[in-house]
Amino acid sequence: MEKKLICIICPRGCELTADINGESVSVSGNACKRGMEYAMSECINPLRTVTSVVRVANRNDTMVSVKTTCGVPKAKIAEIMSAIREKTVEAPVREGQVIIEDLFGASLIATKNIP
Ligand code: SF4
Repeated sequence: MEKKLICIICPRGCELTADINGESVSVSGNACKRGMEYAMSECINPLRTVTSVVRVANRNDTMVSVKTTCGVPKAKIAEIMSAIREKTVEAPVREGQVIIEDLFGASLIATKNIP
């Protein structure tokens, strides 16, 4: 099976072709090794960094922005968003504070300070 992809690793946006044959993937169209790694990840286990907001329980109408520390499996994003929706934190919150540990190999951290 052949899959066409646009590499999103850098602004050059190479048009990649991944030829998937069972467990084996061969990639063409990439100008560098990072494109090959991106295409292989997209075909085998696509990952995404999740960004969202979490409610701050002791501050009316306040949310803190959050993101995962690394890519998480794309197939688990709905489950991760559900965990984020259920989570609340208490202020003060500092940038980089871990909000949820171990979300499919990543942590969810605050990306801003809430005094
Ligand atoms: S393959 Fe390399 S040069 Fe091409 S878009 Fe991806 S990272 Fe950039």
